[in-house]
Amino acid sequence: MRFVLLLTSLMILLTSCKSTEEFSGFSYDPPDVTDTTDKELTPQYKRVIGTGEPTVWVSNMFDGARLNDFYAKNDSLFEVYIRPENAPINNSPWYAFKIWSDTLRSAKIKINYQDATHRYVPKLHRPDSLGSVTLSDYEELAFEYDSTDGTAVIELELSEAPLYVSAQPLQTTSDLMEDLESRNIVGHDFVKHKRAGLSKKGREIMELEITEVAPDQKAPVLAIVGRQHPPEVTGYLASLSFLEELTSDTELAEQFRNTFVVKAFPMINPDGVDLGHWRHNAGGIDLNRDWENFNQPETRVVRDALSRLKDHDRRIMFYAIDFHSTNENLFYPINEEVKTTPDNITQKWIPLIKENNADVEFTVEEFDTSSPIAKNWFYHTFGIDAVTYEVDDRLETDRLDEISRSAARSLMQLLLEEWHHKNLDN
Ligand SMILES: [Zn+2]
Repeated sequence: MRFVLLLTSLMILLTSCKSTEEFSGFSYDPPDVTDTTDKELTPQYKRVIGTGEPTVWVSNMFDGARLNDFYAKNDSLFEVYIRPENAPINNSPWYAFKIWSDTLRSAKIKINYQDATHRYVPKLHRPDSLGSVTLSDYEELAFEYDSTDGTAVIELELSEAPLYVSAQPLQTTSDLMEDLESRNIVGHDFVKHKRAGLSKKGREIMELEITEVAPDQKAPVLAIVGRQHPPEVTGYLASLSFLEELTSDTELAEQFRNTFVVKAFPMINPDGVDLGHWRHNAGGIDLNRDWENFNQPETRVVRDALSRLKDHDRRIMFYAIDFHSTNENLFYPINEEVKTTPDNITQKWIPLIKENNADVEFTVEEFDTSSPIAKNWFYHTFGIDAVTYEVDDRLETDRLDEISRSAARSLMQLLLEEWHHKNLDN
């Protein structure tokens, strides 16, 4: 009997070691994804290209743009070429370009991807005379998908006034501060923002601290990271709605801020975002596979900012969320069997989110802690529970905002209860 028990525990030990040593990427990852030393980028040349007579023009000369080439196929069909920053790469082909014509005309535009097939529903917006645009200005375009070559064709009414076509609403580094202001996230005494460090190309990685806890008071910390993957705009917008709720003037938010410290890094891949990347940073690397080796400056910046809390005598890391997007609303919790402190926060939180949003589908897929992703770094470093929070690419922005805010409210409630329990137990 004793022998059997020993053998069982030995087997468990072997299995867990094995998975730690052998993680080489998820099913959708390209080979060598865990080698996070710099890989070469294929440059995107910034330019305006005109073709045909009368001429149709395109431009990629703005932040977030991705367009590599442009041709006229015939009088009415044009082709836009979209290439990734480097390959192999996951199939999340981001595109964003500006298009106009010397004359009023309609034109079919085929979007042709290298190393990928069409994924994101095209969005159209026309900036007003001041160049400003809000989320509600984006309209989804009808498109014809060709499954033989993975292209999509859209039809546009062109004029001299430029139209913008993009895979998702453009949300670049210059929008971040503006959005934090317009959403009333910054501008309170209890919100501090600073530069946590710099990206590979010298862009700011912003850190927000939200709290009304006195410096000498013992307090738990909620960490939020996001936008490791540039095209994952719905997850990014969800993180901003989340922060909006945490900084609101509700009684719950006030109570939360009087108990908790929030450390948020809403855009940790600013180079990838502004350079119109499909997934990687300017080192050509998937940042969410670099949380073990820390070969990239962006992951190091966040690691260094948060590692300080490890031996802090008044701050206790408590829970962490990493915001992403995919083709469904999906939570990746840490396996329920893995003991964390506090334990199974995600497993307690998800039913509350489901209950408050009964009309929305949420998928839950638990994982072990072997992969070099942000969530697992939080677990391995602090022993806490954490979640990868994936938002549906196609989730409409108003609904996204409501769900995210209600998720923020249920989490604040839950974390407050967990913290009080912990203090009662002690
Ligand atoms: Zn992602």
